[in-house]
Amino acid sequence: MLYKRHNRIKEVLKKRQPHLTVLIEDVHKPHNLSAIIRTCDAVGILDLHVVNQNGKYPTFSKVSQGSEKWVFITTYISIDDAINALKRRKFKIYAAHFSKTAIDYRNVNYTEPVAILLGAEKWGVSKEAAQLVDGHITIPMLGMVQSLNVSVAAAVILFEAQRQRLEAKMYTKMQLSPTTYNKILFEWSYP
Ligand code: SAM
Repeated sequence: MLYKRHNRIKEVLKKRQPHLTVLIEDVHKPHNLSAIIRTCDAVGILDLHVVNQNGKYPTFSKVSQGSEKWVFITTYISIDDAINALKRRKFKIYAAHFSKTAIDYRNVNYTEPVAILLGAEKWGVSKEAAQLVDGHITIPMLGMVQSLNVSVAAAVILFEAQRQRLEAKMYTKMQLSPTTYNKILFEWSYP
């Protein structure tokens, strides 16, 4: 049983994509946050970045199915701290945001180091964040309602990223450094 779990952890780590990440800005409903983490785990995301301007640590719901144990969460109290931290790590940041300059989410190259910024349930991406990022993307909406639930939008975009990365064989060549792989393998195997 323990052996099986250890092997599963190894297989999952071999597919983790440290250069694909998500930044969420003031998403406050635990079921949305949990659904986003679950999707991150499913596409192989290692780290999720969370801005909570009220400084509260995020809470999770059963929707996560425990996936918060397998995705590292870094919290920030300001959006510019979060964006600067990702820029220092050479991520291109695309905000899922309705604007005149927004492009179709399928026209982004997700095989590069990319961070997807998602906005709050009610207000969307802040003006400040929209100005700081490298570009805006949208999922075309052809119905009566103007936007998707934030966790659904995350899933649509992240599975396009997964599709591109599968095509580029990025899940068959390990993306983690040996040091990081061994460190996380130890942490996850002996919690
Ligand atoms: N009234 C808000 C607005 O105008 O942005 C709606 C917020 S929406 C419920 C929450 C977040 O989900 C958005 O900030 C965006 O990041 C993402 N989102 C939802 N539908 C989207 C779409 N069709 N294209 C891109 N992002 C979307």
